[in-house]
Amino acid sequence: MEPYATHDYDVVVIGAGGAGLRAAIEARQAGLRTALVCKSLLGKAHTVMAEGGIAAALGNVWPEDNWRVHFRDTMRGGKLLNNWRMVQLFAQEAPERVLELEEWGAAFDRTPDGLILQRDFGGHRYARLAHVGDRTGLEMIRTLQFRAVHLGVDVFMEVTVQRLLTDAGRVAGAFGYRRGDGGFVLFRAPAVILATGGFGKVWKYTSMSWESTGDGVLLALEAGADLIDMEFVQFHPTGMVWPPSARGILVTEGVRGDGGVLRNREGRRFMFDYIPEFFRAETAETEEEADRWYTDKKHNRRPPELLPRDEVTRAIYYEVKAGRGSPHGGVYLDIASRRPAEYIKARLPSMYHQFKELAGVDITREPMEVYPTCHYAMGGVRVDADSAASTLPGLFAAGEIAGGLHGANRLGGNSLSDLLVFGRRAGLYAAQYVQALRNHPQVALDQVAEAARDLLRPFEGPGGENPYALQAELQETMQELVGIFRTGDELRQALDRIAVLGERLQRVRVEGGREFNPAWHLALDLRAMLRTAEAVTLAALERRESRGGHSRLDYPQADPEWGKVNVVVRLRNGRLELERVPLPPLPDELRAILEERG
Ligand SMILES: Cc1cc2nc3c(=O)[nH]c(=O)nc-3n(C[C@H](O)[C@H](O)[C@H](O)COP(=O)(O)OP(=O)(O)OC[C@H]3O[C@@H](n4cnc5c(N)ncnc54)[C@H](O)[C@@H]3O)c2cc1C
Repeated sequence: MEPYATHDYDVVVIGAGGAGLRAAIEARQAGLRTALVCKSLLGKAHTVMAEGGIAAALGNVWPEDNWRVHFRDTMRGGKLLNNWRMVQLFAQEAPERVLELEEWGAAFDRTPDGLILQRDFGGHRYARLAHVGDRTGLEMIRTLQFRAVHLGVDVFMEVTVQRLLTDAGRVAGAFGYRRGDGGFVLFRAPAVILATGGFGKVWKYTSMSWESTGDGVLLALEAGADLIDMEFVQFHPTGMVWPPSARGILVTEGVRGDGGVLRNREGRRFMFDYIPEFFRAETAETEEEADRWYTDKKHNRRPPELLPRDEVTRAIYYEVKAGRGSPHGGVYLDIASRRPAEYIKARLPSMYHQFKELAGVDITREPMEVYPTCHYAMGGVRVDADSAASTLPGLFAAGEIAGGLHGANRLGGNSLSDLLVFGRRAGLYAAQYVQALRNHPQVALDQVAEAARDLLRPFEGPGGENPYALQAELQETMQELVGIFRTGDELRQALDRIAVLGERLQRVRVEGGREFNPAWHLALDLRAMLRTAEAVTLAALERRESRGGHSRLDYPQADPEWGKVNVVVRLRNGRLELERVPLPPLPDELRAILEERG
């Protein structure tokens, strides 16, 4: 068989975004030999792109804020489909995790009296997002990565993990390849933490980075772990629409948090026409009240532009469909007429440069054109709320690849605090799991040989298919048939097309050698992309209602019966199976929080 390098660790973390770094720090602090593996360079993970901030009820700007309000906002934003225990831990622990990040060197923006400044975002009752201008992800990654390297975490960059290895139903390690020279790598470890991020690259227009191909979804499924909530995909309301090369790039919600408003081609602030009953009591009815809210949150209600993302996304879709869109098929996002140029440049420096350089638009003078873009996966690996353990012993998951916390829709800013809270928990509980083991799992050589053979298959296909063409067809399919709005017929069509693409993938033959060969890498990524697409589409077909990031034109209402279950997806005998699993019952004391005034 092909030669491979072998490394022995107690804990292997796959993914070096915020979740992976935080998990690795915790496992290493517990004294365990810890490896951090990532398919890009350290410091380049998708998290580095995060802009607006980290949601945590620090109460620095609004002392009225506390974990209970954050709990309520997150549950309501998720349309009550969230795992309540995850939300509780998350809301309670997020402030501690942000303060810890500050202790480790993160230089947050400040209030006049020197506290961490917090900004407004959709769905949050109070200004809650700790931030560093609109480059919060960069600061977060910088801080975590210094700490991880300082503690002695071993980092394996540009290594793509392709298979998890198991021994008698427990994790035993991971196998992958070096992107640079194509050499194979085996990690033997009794605990593996998946922190591989999301899967936006399955759609054509996305704000997500090239790494987001759903590798963690395939790794978990093939190892035998469950997924949850895969039907819920967040289309962020504001992505760039013009020029075509920039389409899908994110325009941070911070623009609206800092006073920006959405207008149609007639100049109307159309969000007032789309306030849903569920949020009516807590949303301003007039422009005057909405504008007063920025300075007086106690006596005014939130502007409708700051409704949760799923609501704003659907409103933009309807406006454009009704012919009231902007010249390039979006709507206008206007901060120029609402805030002074110096304020905009200081608060939103990246947005200013992004539009100036990519679109030739000066956002301090002109409105931006925006349209929804695929942005975030609410679903992912099904985990235990406290320990981040998956349903497969030894496998843990944290960050965007884990499901449950955000329910049907994530609030902005809640991902970065998710990474910190559950990254730490995954590292902690993985360490405890390893420390409690009586006998260690063994890696079976036949599994390694099989994984190596699978990795080389794209060099041996019969030919006639091109991985780039398959990728483009998959992305078109998902954009067209499994997008913001779905129907049963379209979802079934999508499944047929995905199946055909899967057959065609078997025929791909890549040319050239194993040294940095992007066609080979893509052919391997496509396995994950196709399985992810299939899991999302099957779960979307199963859920016959509309809720959060899942809107069915053929079932346009939320159905209380569907509000009681999550959809679980698992792989058995080579096929994806679905199960409806009841939500865990909500304790009375937490139910009382949900009933508090908004
Ligand atoms: C433009 C933009 C702005 C955003 N702004 C905010 C914000 O302000 N606030 C907020 O809360 N959220 C924000 N988000 C969302 C947030 O950034 C992400 O949800 C979050 O960073 C995901 O972090 P993660 O650690 O789970 O994974 P990622 O940061 O996506 O990292 C995944 C890691 O896994 C590695 N990996 C993947 N597959 C493999 C494999 N097979 N083998 C080895 N390694 C692998 C990658 O190389 C990478 O290191 C934003 C997202 C975007 C796109």
